Amino acid sequence: MAVQPFQSARLLAEASGRAVAERLQSRVQGLTLNASDPDETADGLARRLHDTCRERQPCVFVGSLEWLVLALAPALVGMDRDQLAPVVAVTPDGAAAIPLLGLGRGAEALARSVADALGVLPVGLATEGLGTAVPAPRSGRLAVIGMGPGAADLMAPAVREELDRAQDIVGYTTYVRMAGPFRPDQRLLDSDNRREMDRARLAFELAAQGRHVVVVSSGDPGVFAMAAAVVEALDQSDDPAWREVDLAILPGISAAQAVAARAGAPLGHDFCMLSLSDNLKPWSQIERRLEHAALADLVIALYNPSSKARPWQLTQALDLLRRHRAPSTPVVLGRDVGRPDECVTVTTLGEVQPDQVDMRTLVILGSSQTRQFPRRDGGAWVYTPRWYPTP
Ligand code: SAH
Repeated sequence: MAVQPFQSARLLAEASGRAVAERLQSRVQGLTLNASDPDETADGLARRLHDTCRERQPCVFVGSLEWLVLALAPALVGMDRDQLAPVVAVTPDGAAAIPLLGLGRGAEALARSVADALGVLPVGLATEGLGTAVPAPRSGRLAVIGMGPGAADLMAPAVREELDRAQDIVGYTTYVRMAGPFRPDQRLLDSDNRREMDRARLAFELAAQGRHVVVVSSGDPGVFAMAAAVVEALDQSDDPAWREVDLAILPGISAAQAVAARAGAPLGHDFCMLSLSDNLKPWSQIERRLEHAALADLVIALYNPSSKARPWQLTQALDLLRRHRAPSTPVVLGRDVGRPDECVTVTTLGEVQPDQVDMRTLVILGSSQTRQFPRRDGGAWVYTPRWYPTP
């Protein structure tokens, strides 16, 4: 479970809390945890606790609360309340994280980070004094991840880590396969005949039961992919268990970025991303968007440009675009970029043929300012300058 960084805090553990302390140490990102020496005596630990208080270092203690209170007491005599740094006490079984000292000065946030990492609720302190420890059922996690275009080294390390930790992997078969290999204990829910919203709901159902679920998308999950469906499913649901789910969207390199990088810098100035698929929106809307994008002289990245089921859309789109842009306008066709069959072609609006393009291709159409020039290997560099001519 990725936990937001808090600040540096010391981690001190009594013998009874060592296992939980080790768990915390590996789970709380950005929190500098200085674990205690396994052979430390109670006196030694009490001394370190006193030093921590004196140095006003935030501290997380795991172990017997009674011992902690008795050990802290002498160090606190004569100290002012606002001199106290946050101290969060964690029970030896990790069932509760209690902000003990430094309330209103970071103790609550520290307790929340620790409780998140342990999968419990932080104990709330209504007034002063200790609240009742209420361990919450462990809520699940749902991460919608983007794998990037395909190459393993273009996938963010956070995404790789999420996939490695997942229990259930949900997505189209092709993408699930791309995200692998998986261990035998990881469940693959890769049926292709499920619709996006059904897949999103399935993912939430599993996470609400406490599972660690990953929904896979190629490229970026927020670009014509699963993230929007997952967030929409949450918006539409009134199931309180869904709200408890730890939801995260992890970005990936989108096809437009990957293709652009291969060709040079065609997205160097203002651009837009459009999907030519009319499965989820009417064709008239797509035509209107294309028209406006063309009039605005935006570089246009076309996703889902063509498929066997939609053979005519690209021809119509190109006809429309040719009414607005010169035949010499550079066009980049990137197919299977970042995958073994990668192929990048630079052509022009005048020359491009619809049969050069399929569902695995991303098309970038330049603006009036986009240029190309030959490169050493026979291909071409394409770029759109950062500046725009002033009228
Ligand atoms: N979420 C993805 C896009 C999904 S829509 C992303 O951010 O990249 C699917 C379309 O993306 C395809 O029809 C194709 O146009 C484009 N695409 C995805 N991966 C690609 C790749 N590796 N090479 C070229 N185009 C790709």
